[in-house]
Amino acid sequence: MIYLDHNATSPPRPGVAEAVTANLTTTHGNPSSVHGAGRRARHLLDDARRAVARLVAVHESRVIFTSGGTESNHLALFGIAEAAEYRGTILTSAIEHPSVHKPLSRIAAHGMQVIQLPVDPLGRVDAAAVEQAITPDTRLVSIMAANNETGVLQPIQAIGTLCRAARVPFHCDATQWFGKLSLSTDVLGADLLTLSAHKAGGPMGCGALIVANALQLAPLLLGGGQERGRRSGTENLPGIAGFAAMAGQLARQIEDEAQRNASLRDKLEYELLKSIPDAIILGRGAERLPNTTALLIPCVDGETLVMTLDLAGFAISSGAACSSGKNSPSHVPMAMGWSAEATRGMVRISLGWDTTETMVDSFISVFQRSVDRLRKGSALA
Ligand code: PMP
Repeated sequence: MIYLDHNATSPPRPGVAEAVTANLTTTHGNPSSVHGAGRRARHLLDDARRAVARLVAVHESRVIFTSGGTESNHLALFGIAEAAEYRGTILTSAIEHPSVHKPLSRIAAHGMQVIQLPVDPLGRVDAAAVEQAITPDTRLVSIMAANNETGVLQPIQAIGTLCRAARVPFHCDATQWFGKLSLSTDVLGADLLTLSAHKAGGPMGCGALIVANALQLAPLLLGGGQERGRRSGTENLPGIAGFAAMAGQLARQIEDEAQRNASLRDKLEYELLKSIPDAIILGRGAERLPNTTALLIPCVDGETLVMTLDLAGFAISSGAACSSGKNSPSHVPMAMGWSAEATRGMVRISLGWDTTETMVDSFISVFQRSVDRLRKGSALA
């Protein structure tokens, strides 16, 4: 199986499984216990927190371990909304992940105003529109760093700067940025930053919310007061050990990986457009993650193409793979102005840390042949 679906999840990097297993087998202890086993677990937790903090260049006190991107987004959004007693306004965009959109719907039902800003045809939020929409009632701006379906980067630096000037907290879901590009200071301007380990080659079920220390944030999970009272519950130490092992590697390799993936992605797009000239690359012309290609292919059903490629030994996805196999048209291309009909032909190819040129070359030829075959037999053609 050639795996080209790293935006859904990225396979564990070397050493990650070993770090998880080592914790399960040798460091069995609760970090809150005072005995030796507990103290060893506490050391491991502290070391892991430092590793993640170093990677994103913040003080370790800002790292709150969570169960992943979904929980980090919930903590950021409900944490701010509850602290604001569900009064005031939250600004967000039309292309956020459902783990932002759905909590915001519930927050709106509690009485807060949620304003969804549109995107342009290339899938970008306009920073000037964010600035114009901020009022004295704005309690939070929540805009993702990079879109999971198109890879299009959002003007995070500009939004962070204008939020700081307006003294409005800024939440940035950097789940897809993490592991694909280095987390530069542009992204770190956020007061709340969502990370998920499994999107970057760490274990599933583990992530972090990087929180500005002074920020008033109501906890989502109450109990033993772990994570400085911001997230109760015994920590997922095996997952956190794997997260830390991944973080160390990521810090050393991310620049090289990003460059390599960008040139493989460019080759892939060049070759695919040569043989399928009517295909559309979503967000082409905008700044994008170096690993992501989202295509709309006329007269082809994306789901069928994904299944055909699966049978041929290639894993890609149609739109957002992480939407639990749902079949409805994706909100992202629709927000960019595409019809539900056009989005039927959507597929997403996402490269990662273990992708080689040989894999991309064999994918290109099988992809071209599969599209040809489907088009010849397609009722849509
Ligand atoms: N945000 C974005 C942009 C994502 O792509 C995802 C995963 N599909 C999430 C949040 C949720 O992350 P997790 O799977 O760790 O809950």
